[in-house]
Amino acid sequence: MVHTLSKPRPEPICGMDTWMPAPARIVAVREENFNTRTFTTQFVDEGIAEMYRFAPGQFNMLYVPGVGEAAFSISSDPARPGRLEHTVRRVGSVTRAIWRVNKGGVIGLRGAFGRGWPMDEMKDRHVVIVAGGIGIAPLRPVVYSLLEDPSYCKRLVLLYDCRTPEDRVYADELEQWEQTDAIEVLVTVDNATGQWTGPVGVVTDLLRRIKVAAQETIVLVCGPKVLNRAAAWSFLQLHVPPGQVFVNLERNMNCGFARCGHCQYGGKFVCSDGPVFRFSEIANIFAKGGI
Ligand SMILES: Cc1cc2nc3c(=O)[nH]c(=O)nc-3n(C[C@H](O)[C@H](O)[C@H](O)COP(=O)(O)OP(=O)(O)OC[C@H]3O[C@@H](n4cnc5c(N)ncnc54)[C@H](O)[C@@H]3O)c2cc1C
Repeated sequence: MVHTLSKPRPEPICGMDTWMPAPARIVAVREENFNTRTFTTQFVDEGIAEMYRFAPGQFNMLYVPGVGEAAFSISSDPARPGRLEHTVRRVGSVTRAIWRVNKGGVIGLRGAFGRGWPMDEMKDRHVVIVAGGIGIAPLRPVVYSLLEDPSYCKRLVLLYDCRTPEDRVYADELEQWEQTDAIEVLVTVDNATGQWTGPVGVVTDLLRRIKVAAQETIVLVCGPKVLNRAAAWSFLQLHVPPGQVFVNLERNMNCGFARCGHCQYGGKFVCSDGPVFRFSEIANIFAKGGI
């Protein structure tokens, strides 16, 4: 096991250079909901498998020969870098192709890229995670790391929002986490279907159910744009300092390591300055609706 709290950002390892995908075999596939699956991969080359490390919030570029490449957050436990999970929502050509490759097939993988969540700043703090839909994927490694050492932060809260109960990603795990004392889990849905008896409404409604110790709290947000904005503003209104609110942004990517400019966001590159940004770093560009 590799202990991941307070570790420096790992260097990308993807074969001979950062442009070259390393072959990785899909060894397991789990259905999360109607259009989302979690793919577990292992590097074919044992040397790469041995060296590869990632930090919570980093992403890989996944490549399907003849189709193309796209960015995907690493959603697995950083203490087990030999079994990498990516939770993929099927939206277009690359994601459909990953579906077709399926268990047993080989894809290309480059990474790990980007600046992830500030694990070192969570020490002795209250950590509130706010996720929407598939936005929980890059936050799952944070939960794994903090549950590995429950005394690392003072309090761990997960607020999760999705459209319906059937849309929940990692539904079994959410239920397991709900049973432990190390994390408080609150899930809300936009539409209650089936047997759902939990909260209904947007994720910011859940804030009424928790007490936020503003100065001591680190907030981590990842979801659709509208959720990111609403959640970040709500915590600022509760007087959490803007330097303690972190938002994960998604931008179309090409290279993954600040060469091509595809993912430019104001004066920043999401691939290397992010995808996780401190709110105080991006407040000006974040406030502009179209960006
Ligand atoms: C840092 C980072 C991390 C990411 N992590 C993940 C992840 O963990 N899981 C995951 O499924 N995706 C993730 N994405 C998004 C993923 O890279 C894109 O969805 C990618 O475009 C999919 O490629 P594609 O060829 O299948 O679809 P494309 O052909 O690129 O897109 C097809 C259609 O879907 C639309 N579309 C693309 N992305 C989205 C989206 N996110 N939401 C709604 N519509 C969209 C496009 O506008 C287009 O109309 C991440 C992106 C970044 C930048």
